[in-house]
Amino acid sequence: MNFVKESVNQTPIVDTVFSIVAKAKEAKAKVGADNVVDATIGSLYDEEGTLVALDSVYSSLKNLDNKVLAAYAASFRGNPDFRKKVYDWVLNGNSHLEHEVIATPGGTGAVGMTLQECLDEGQTVILPEIAWGSYALMAQMHNLNVEKYSLFEEDHFNLNSFKAACKKVMEKQNRLVMVINDPCHNPTGYSLSEEEWKEVISFLNECSKTHAVVLLNDIAYIDFSSRQEKAKEYFAQFDQIEKNFVVIVAFSLSKSMTSYGLRCGAAIVLGQEKEAVEQVKIVFEKDARATWSNINNGAMATFVDVLDNHKADYDKERLHYVNLLKERGDIFVKEANEVGLKHYPYKEGFFVTLSMDNETRDKFHEALMENNIFTVKVNLGIRVAICSLSVEKTKGLAKKMKDILDTVA
Ligand code: PLP
Repeated sequence: MNFVKESVNQTPIVDTVFSIVAKAKEAKAKVGADNVVDATIGSLYDEEGTLVALDSVYSSLKNLDNKVLAAYAASFRGNPDFRKKVYDWVLNGNSHLEHEVIATPGGTGAVGMTLQECLDEGQTVILPEIAWGSYALMAQMHNLNVEKYSLFEEDHFNLNSFKAACKKVMEKQNRLVMVINDPCHNPTGYSLSEEEWKEVISFLNECSKTHAVVLLNDIAYIDFSSRQEKAKEYFAQFDQIEKNFVVIVAFSLSKSMTSYGLRCGAAIVLGQEKEAVEQVKIVFEKDARATWSNINNGAMATFVDVLDNHKADYDKERLHYVNLLKERGDIFVKEANEVGLKHYPYKEGFFVTLSMDNETRDKFHEALMENNIFTVKVNLGIRVAICSLSVEKTKGLAKKMKDILDTVA
């Protein structure tokens, strides 16, 4: 007997993160935290091993009037000042397209809404082969098929595979929707070069001559790019999109404001023509109202207040962690290269991912845990969360991992 809809997949979620987080915790209780390397947690942690919650953000939140926290948002699309601030902060003057912003519960809301509303059931979404797991789950829940592109050709973006995936999907449907998680790709830490973005846009412009194109650019980690404002310059390339092409930029306050639990983000819709942007806006607004109604008013008000009144403090605090993340990443990658521990091309961001086939990965992951090193399995690799690993624990880790890998490979 079915109590849920016939078409939904009932297989439970295979949890690859929280079960390992729990094992790492157990190990710490058993052998002491100093003897455990816990590279599982995907949130930013400081050098003392605690979650980073930026003071500039939380003092702003706590100073808000209770009535601001209590109130509904001003609109189902989010508060007007929040929408404007998101657009200005994210695009940073680099875009000159028609645009609309819809507030969402985190980046998850923006990505999920795009997949649900831009594709019909049974159609195909194009995803990276190594990716944040929620994309595939969203596709499954919305009854979408998935076509994957391989991410790398040697140490650069695999444009050929990306093109092949798009062409394959174009043969069977009239609309192309693809995810590019960039910059600071989760979990490899890759960021496309300006040249790579240029080629992507030029290819998709060709596709848009016969098919509607929706590019979903998931920028969840952008504010932790080591390039900071420079990391936003590629948005200028979107100015070249043709009229049959829209871009949805999925923005998240979770990382940008270290406010994972406040559940706030936005979908920024960009297009050459007002009608195209308006069409997406209307449908997204209805989806918002039908799904979550409206967004956390306090989170939106905090974002606006931080950027209006505490920007210098916020920048200073954030930059401290941007630099720390870079230090951890540089150490791990340098040492990995020295000992020949293979990893995907890492440029910046929360994670480095070791590259290997899935059979080796499974054996290696077990062997690492036997040595009190906890990581997360991803497709074709092992994710090392440098975002939550202290500099001290990062030092020497690559060699330890390589020695263990040599025992299983
Ligand atoms: N996109 C990517 C690649 C992520 O890794 C995450 C969070 O882990 C998100 C989007 C969305 O996060 P949130 O919904 O908390 O904003």
